[in-house]
Amino acid sequence: MIDNLIYERKNGFSDIDEKKKERIFDFCEEYRLAITKAKTEREFCSMGIQLLEEAGFEVLDGKKALQPGDRVYYVNRGKGLCAFVVGTEPITSGVNIVGAHIDSPRLDLKPQPLYEDNGIAFLKTHYYGGIRKYQWYNIPLSLHGVVVKKDGTAIDISIGENDEDPIFCITDLLPHLASKYGTMKVSEAFDAEKLNVIVGNIVCSEAEKEKVKYGVLKLLNEKYGICEADFMSSELELVPAFAARDLGFDRSMISGYGHDDRVCAYTALRAITSTGKPSKTAVCLLVDKEEIGSMGNTGMQSRNFENVLAKVCSLCMGSYNELMLRECLSNSACLSADVGAAYDPNFPEVYERNNSPYLNEGLLLTKYTGARGKSGSSDASAEFVARIRNIFEENGILWQSGELGKTDIGGGGTIAQFVANLDVDTIDCGVALLGMHSPNEVAGKFDIYMAYKGYKAFMNS
Ligand code: MN
Ligand code: MN
Repeated sequence: MIDNLIYERKNGFSDIDEKKKERIFDFCEEYRLAITKAKTEREFCSMGIQLLEEAGFEVLDGKKALQPGDRVYYVNRGKGLCAFVVGTEPITSGVNIVGAHIDSPRLDLKPQPLYEDNGIAFLKTHYYGGIRKYQWYNIPLSLHGVVVKKDGTAIDISIGENDEDPIFCITDLLPHLASKYGTMKVSEAFDAEKLNVIVGNIVCSEAEKEKVKYGVLKLLNEKYGICEADFMSSELELVPAFAARDLGFDRSMISGYGHDDRVCAYTALRAITSTGKPSKTAVCLLVDKEEIGSMGNTGMQSRNFENVLAKVCSLCMGSYNELMLRECLSNSACLSADVGAAYDPNFPEVYERNNSPYLNEGLLLTKYTGARGKSGSSDASAEFVARIRNIFEENGILWQSGELGKTDIGGGGTIAQFVANLDVDTIDCGVALLGMHSPNEVAGKFDIYMAYKGYKAFMNS
């Protein structure tokens, strides 16, 4: 028999001892608490800053020079983070980036959300990212975000996370009256303009009309000092109000909201905070707006990362010319840390068995994403895949290869293409999920731990 002649799949839990299992479960418990606490890009950014500062990272602004081993971070408008551990090699020899996104699919409030209809006050929503709308009915929702008054005062809002808080919900039709909807197309039965959230039902006697809406506004004014027009300068997001929980008799999985992509963002953060003095500068890049195409100045298509890297280059080199930044980027490597779709035995018709990732079978490498004939994919080179594969195998990281479902069934994209466009060798590498983009996604604990270990090994390569 020739060793390793045949590639064989393996469940990560198949040959580990109790001690290692305990390490995995302990790490995942910290992750579970983190994603229960930080549900939006702004909240995750704040939590990230805290983790970084506890690990000795300092703000980049105001630094006069950077030396090997220095730990700095930059915050992009409260919705993105970029952390660096300066390496011993010159920065022009390239950096090792682990890039993830911290926005997740959700329901945003419309700029003028509040209205009253037949004695019930509602908030109108505009969904953000790719959702199956019916999944957002009849679940407890919490409201998170910020209202900025015209004088610039920002009021943070989080309602629905504490047990004593009220929650919100979108009611669905009772089965007794839903027969017509049962035979309709799902896309027609669940109209985006019906994603209206119930928020109040008490009439306020001092109002002349729309007495319930008035009552809600009065409460908001008393508690937060805001008026109806302030909604127009707010970012308020409805997300599932429940906590992430262990899943299964054996607790081998975690179900919860927004593993996509906080499972990669959190593990990337933990990887960089446990990185000492690498040879190449290690970078943890957390961006916003991936779910809507990486647009805008907090998304990966922004020049923000180049601007920050230019600054780090100049502080490392003691001088600056544009060539340093260009050289640095050309020599850099990136793991686009994002989730994939794990094979779901209940829906075998959309997966290709040989090229799907499986739950708890290790960190997922996805050579290309995109749709149809790889449209919209950066398609990592064989040379780069080999390099990453070698790093993982040298460091005992169980990994697997997989793409997103059958060819021509659907598709998707990540930040990989935008990082690759900067002339950086890039490959998608993350955790495979069940129920991706639903309010309650499922991730395997072994995979979560492998993401942490894999990102750390890459940052130190
Ligand atoms: Mn994602
Ligand atoms: Mn996504």
